[in-house]
Amino acid sequence: MSDRDFDRAAHRRTDQPWLENALRADGARVAVIWRSKALVSGEGVAPRAVLIPAAEIGPGIGAETVFLGCPNENAIFAVDASALEPDDAQARFAAYGAFEDLRAVGMLLPGPEAALLGYAKGMLYWHERHRFCGVCGHPTRAKDGGHRRLCVNAACGTEHFPRSDPAVIMLIEYEDKCLLARGARFPGNFISVLAGFVEPGESLEDTVAREAFEECGVRVTDIAYASSQPWPFPSSLMVGFRARALDPTLTLDPTEILEAGWYTRDFIRALNDDSPRRIGPKFSISRRLIDDWVEEG
Ligand SMILES: [Zn+2]
Repeated sequence: MSDRDFDRAAHRRTDQPWLENALRADGARVAVIWRSKALVSGEGVAPRAVLIPAAEIGPGIGAETVFLGCPNENAIFAVDASALEPDDAQARFAAYGAFEDLRAVGMLLPGPEAALLGYAKGMLYWHERHRFCGVCGHPTRAKDGGHRRLCVNAACGTEHFPRSDPAVIMLIEYEDKCLLARGARFPGNFISVLAGFVEPGESLEDTVAREAFEECGVRVTDIAYASSQPWPFPSSLMVGFRARALDPTLTLDPTEILEAGWYTRDFIRALNDDSPRRIGPKFSISRRLIDDWVEEG
């Protein structure tokens, strides 16, 4: 869920006259987020991100408008419609589509569209949770096209910036098998690679080693970066790693991990909708780590 080709036009964020003109321009488009759901068209099978003309936003929403970028001559903004009651929200935008959970439709959307909606959702989630200054408790105001919030208390003046919470996710190998586990919060029979949040004072590699040991009792070596993925549920950056276990003995933390085991490539290749185990959807980094490993052997 990222799109390197999308021009965020960060240099425009501090140009207030430009932003106001861009929002009023005929070609201005808006991604609408309602209570963390994104407006998409095409029920079920082939959803598409909906960007509506900015002029059609209507009253009662748009107090927080975030400048997302300018991929061509027209700017794209994100607007939070969460103030609308469910029936209102649905009725107001019924001509365009419906509000859907990105976790569900993300894998069906074209990649750049999933990335754009994830970006919009992540920004508005941050605004919603930073309306007050964490230092002095006064309200904050959005600045820089919505990419900064400033405490209104002149004596404080703390600036607040959107954050991503770093988390590691790692495929651990031992000989020709990889470690997959069923987390306590996973739905049904879903198994995945291990993951965990980075703690203050840790490097990413430290977190990989700590989580592997805490969750499954495994000591790892050869920790190497693989790839990363923004994960706006709600505001993570998943950083993917590979590592090798020194010993395959597993000692599970039962509060986090319900079961774990070493799986072969053939087992994973044979998985299908009727299998007693399932792995994550194609667009997830967990799946990419698993698929890349399977393809190596
Ligand atoms: Zn303050």
